[in-house]
Amino acid sequence: LLAGICSTDLEIVRGYAGFEGVLGHEFVGRVESVADEADEAWLGRRVVGTINIGCQTCAECLAKGPEHCPRRTVLGIHGRDGIFADYVAIPVRNLLQVPDNVPDEAAVFTEPLAAAVRIRQQMAVKPTASTAVVGPGRLGLLAGQVLAFGGTQVTMLGRSAASLRLPDRLGLRTGFTEEFADDSFDLVVEATGNSAGFIQSLRLVRPRGTLVLKSTFAGSSDLDLTKLFVAEINVIGSRCGPFAPALRLLQAGEVEVIAMIETGYPLDQALAALEHAARPGVRKVLMRP
Ligand SMILES: [Zn+2]
Ligand SMILES: [Zn+2]
Repeated sequence: LLAGICSTDLEIVRGYAGFEGVLGHEFVGRVESVADEADEAWLGRRVVGTINIGCQTCAECLAKGPEHCPRRTVLGIHGRDGIFADYVAIPVRNLLQVPDNVPDEAAVFTEPLAAAVRIRQQMAVKPTASTAVVGPGRLGLLAGQVLAFGGTQVTMLGRSAASLRLPDRLGLRTGFTEEFADDSFDLVVEATGNSAGFIQSLRLVRPRGTLVLKSTFAGSSDLDLTKLFVAEINVIGSRCGPFAPALRLLQAGEVEVIAMIETGYPLDQALAALEHAARPGVRKVLMRP
């Protein structure tokens, strides 16, 4: 029904992960056919789907799920065609039904919202922790909203006034990254997807603070990591998150996602859509069949 373009897709186009095939992993769709009669109840349902498909036999799969299965495939990212297509085949176990009151335009954000929720699954976010998200873009805005639950003051940091307008409208504190002193925040989430953003994030985190790496960027090897051990920074790598809580947040209307939609393109103009999504400061570009 709808697909979202995310920065990971754009990184893959630039060569990240060496993937070749059909791109795309953020979607809401409708089940048109099932391989197994036992799954017929799924026919016609509006669904979203988790993106990791594990082997279901290794210790990781059996204990924790497919996210770190060494033999996993990942929708549109690793070893499996993605969803920028009219139809896609996905294991039924990866599907979640979308509640009726969540429109397609919101449901398509389930995957990136789950990735934002993942931060809270990995660490306790104290209401008193001074918290910053560097990069007020597609993923940063979701992370900022999710981190603000419970009264935590979240500052969205960007480089241009234009990039701070939407976070400001969503009630988040905003500021220019360069204007904050070194060691300003207990918790910093890096969501820019570039090494300049990583350098700023590391500069802004306080000694013994926590730095969450939330964005995909094809790594640069000459980053100065001295502060990590001198200042005893906790680093948390953070990737895919749980879909069920993300859907509950959308159902309850507790996260604003519709305002993040930039524009939409039909699938047969996918190249134009990807080019649009790659422009600086652009938020969520959607595609429809
Ligand atoms: Zn994504
Ligand atoms: Zn496995």
